[in-house]
Amino acid sequence: MIIYGSRASHVKSVQLDVETCPHCGTHGSLVLSTYARYAHVFWIPLFPIGRVSVSECRHCRQVLESKQMPAQIKAYHERNLSETRLPIWQFSGLALFFIAIAFGAYTNGQDKDEQAQFLKAPKSGDVYEWKTKAGAYTTFRVSEVGTDTLKVHFNNYEVNKISGIYQIDKEENYSDTTYQITRTELQQMYAGGEIVDINRH
Ligand SMILES: [Zn+2]
Repeated sequence: MIIYGSRASHVKSVQLDVETCPHCGTHGSLVLSTYARYAHVFWIPLFPIGRVSVSECRHCRQVLESKQMPAQIKAYHERNLSETRLPIWQFSGLALFFIAIAFGAYTNGQDKDEQAQFLKAPKSGDVYEWKTKAGAYTTFRVSEVGTDTLKVHFNNYEVNKISGIYQIDKEENYSDTTYQITRTELQQMYAGGEIVDINRH
């Protein structure tokens, strides 16, 4: 369940000393309060939506929204809006969102560095996640590392989603047949985007 919606926070209240209540006629009884509305998800503020003002008469308790206000009271509402800045904390959810994206980009970059290292210095037991020509995904595992060539065993199974690859990376799924692959071929596969990940356990 995702809980989201909008809330309002109080920004500023001013007493309108020189104005008269349009309902009861009391002089100096109106208080104009301005609120900043913001969208939230799980009560984490995402971004501001806008500002609203209401006036309340301390005498007769009549409450007016900005669209119901007589022009002279509305003028205070407009002035409040121009004078109040949006609270910066209302952007905290957006800030978190951008931090998360930046963090994702950073860890992705680290992954790529690691893969480049694995590719340069392969080890027995490395598992390559491979996108085949047919658009399916499978793996092959390095069993021996030579100067120019590697011995690998292919997985007997394929999956149609990257997210399912881990399910077929099991000891019993690897073929007993040994294939030779040159380091150059492997690097070409990686450069061509056929290798989606390299795992070293
Ligand atoms: Zn009143």
